[in-house]
Amino acid sequence: MSVTAIKGMNDVLPGEVETWQFLEQSARDVFGLYGFSEIRTPIAEKTELFCRSIGETTDIVEKEMYTFSDKSENSLTLRPEGTAPVMRSFIQNRLYTLDPISKLYYMGPMFRYERPQKGRYRQFHQIGVEVVGVEDAKIDAQVLAMLHQYFVRIGIESVSLQINSLGCPECRPLYRKELISYLESRLNLLCAECQRRYQVNPLRVLDCKAAGCQTATVDAPSVLDHLCSPCNEHFSQVKEYLNSLKIPFVVNSRMVRGLDYYVRTTFELVTDQLGAQNAVAAGGRYDGLVESLGGPALPGIGFAIGLERLVLMKGEQRISSPSPQLFIASIGVEAAERAFVLMSQLQVAGVRVEMDYLGKSLKAQMRRANKLNAAFTLILGEEELGTGQAQLKNMSDSTQSMVDLATLVEDFVKKQV
Ligand code: ATP
Ligand code: MG
Repeated sequence: MSVTAIKGMNDVLPGEVETWQFLEQSARDVFGLYGFSEIRTPIAEKTELFCRSIGETTDIVEKEMYTFSDKSENSLTLRPEGTAPVMRSFIQNRLYTLDPISKLYYMGPMFRYERPQKGRYRQFHQIGVEVVGVEDAKIDAQVLAMLHQYFVRIGIESVSLQINSLGCPECRPLYRKELISYLESRLNLLCAECQRRYQVNPLRVLDCKAAGCQTATVDAPSVLDHLCSPCNEHFSQVKEYLNSLKIPFVVNSRMVRGLDYYVRTTFELVTDQLGAQNAVAAGGRYDGLVESLGGPALPGIGFAIGLERLVLMKGEQRISSPSPQLFIASIGVEAAERAFVLMSQLQVAGVRVEMDYLGKSLKAQMRRANKLNAAFTLILGEEELGTGQAQLKNMSDSTQSMVDLATLVEDFVKKQV
């Protein structure tokens, strides 16, 4: 039996990887325009980083982490998300001493032990951004505008932006208490999971997919009715700025996020194209996180986009690799050697060239040139080597022109640009 990949961890193959590269490059382009720089952190961190930031009672920490001991008995975890590692690095490298505002982005694999299904995997990829240092609602709107602009750039417009405010350590405890007593009054209607967690993580009940939990909480108290006045004011400003930037959004007061560090503005980009996995991007403010991880008291906000879900949405609109500009076919050993050297020279000069390596017949070589969708073909035989000239065929209109092999590289480069 040959060895297969781990369940829920996928290969990205040629033919598909071009879409990934397009999505990644578009992120680099758009985020660069908004002044963001890339940061790369290790794939594994000390387990305690995630327990302290994401929260002990969240789904991620309770059951989804890939945690293991290394040979020195250190508990390590494959990163389940990007914010905590980026903040760890931000603090450790004292990035706040370089600039009062840090605008960072990352992309790469994340790991969660979940039940694999369409749009949900154990190794998945995120593109995320973080801004540290600004409390002003302008930055919330700017981050959302950038997210919006990214989706415009990649040509996915069938998403809707939902926003909410989760309040702050001042007002959320009061809301939490009220929500717990509301849930207590209808405990028998909740699913077993929510009956277990409603006291430690009551907000999660609002987010539960179980039909019973949804009907039991239709008239649950709204977090937006419990915001303290600074949180209320902040949320109003976010909405005003979004309106003035003409970024469409809907307020969803039931949207909670599955990570403990979120405060105030939270948001999700949702689609109806992916069944149950309807969130393609999500994020929010985490004003207390940097301080709680031992850094200075700086506010932060960020989001993460699920790359696999974007690829699924791009679906048919596959992006393909560029085809060769030239295919050099040859007849005989000597011509094949000349073709090989010519090809190398052209490649050095920046031209995409292919040739045959398998000693195939001329007919088979031409079939391959067609299959690869080469723009031009050049046939080298004994005669061409003798005269130093050959026919260059334009494959789209079948016109031919005589070219000098001695100046081919130069001519080709000039003609192509
Ligand atoms: P979900 O509700 O779908 O589980 P989440 O709230 O756990 O999402 P976040 O932690 O906010 O997700 O991650 C941001 C984005 O990363 C999600 O919106 C989604 O697009 C993607 N994502 C999260 N978990 C997975 C996974 N297991 N497989 C593929 N993509 C994922
Ligand atoms: Mg999840």
